[in-house]
Amino acid sequence: MNKINEITKGKAKSMFTTDNDDHLIMHFSDDTSAFDGKKKEALLGKGAVNNQFNAFIMEHLKNNGVENHIIEVIDSTDSLVYKLNMFPIECVIRNRASGSICKRLGTEDGLILESPLFEFFLKDDDLGDPLINDEHIISFGWANNDQIKEMKKQTYKVNEILSKLFLDSGLILVDFKVEFGVYKDKILLADEFTPDGCRLWDSKTMKKMDKDRFRQGLGDVVESYHQVADRLGINIET
Ligand code: ADP
Ligand code: UDP
Repeated sequence: MNKINEITKGKAKSMFTTDNDDHLIMHFSDDTSAFDGKKKEALLGKGAVNNQFNAFIMEHLKNNGVENHIIEVIDSTDSLVYKLNMFPIECVIRNRASGSICKRLGTEDGLILESPLFEFFLKDDDLGDPLINDEHIISFGWANNDQIKEMKKQTYKVNEILSKLFLDSGLILVDFKVEFGVYKDKILLADEFTPDGCRLWDSKTMKKMDKDRFRQGLGDVVESYHQVADRLGINIET
């Protein structure tokens, strides 16, 4: 499998074309960013743990009925994926309040929500990824009504499947972000599910095991990602 051209270099990953027009290589780098790219650092080994963590989660989701873009793992930091036409939006589910919602609504960190809360954000770093709703998405043509329904349905399903998986390993899935795209008329879960894009707290000690360790300067970021992987029984090759 050869990487031909780097078509996007994002804040944490690069996408490369391959000799098959329908496939891309997704490379996880060690680059870590927060606050819409304002805080940046390379954390040694993060790319490898995230690639393999993501592959494990996507496989688990597939086995539980959520299809996704992963074709196969190529090596420690790279996976082969279907090339999707991505929606420019982020789908977030929160089981507890943390992060931006606490600032927005003055909520205490960790408040258990009455029911999982779904939110859409526009993917636009320059605008600080603003909160949007279904009406914005339809009015601006970012997705249609059926696509919105499908993204919500799949995101709720991801929450159900992964909340259980993590809780069985002593971790609370506080919130997470996923992205979707279209492949041959089908809406598929894409991008990544790693500790970079979710909040995971130890269910006994409430210790933060996710990217908040980087955001808040708590240290041991990659070490925590490895601990989460260990708890799930993922064997990470470095
Ligand atoms: P960001 O764009 O936030 O800096 P990344 O560094 O993670 O994010 O870059 C990965 C980019 O690749 C994102 O823009 C994401 O939407 C896109 N992407 C993820 N999966 C696919 C896919 N299967 N096909 C096409 N693009 C994808
Ligand atoms: N998230 C993400 N990418 C983003 C914004 C948020 O992966 O560009 C994840 C974040 O890690 C958390 C969830 O989505 O698990 C909710 O994030 P929030 O809105 O609280 O924003 P934050 O304050 O974390 O930037």
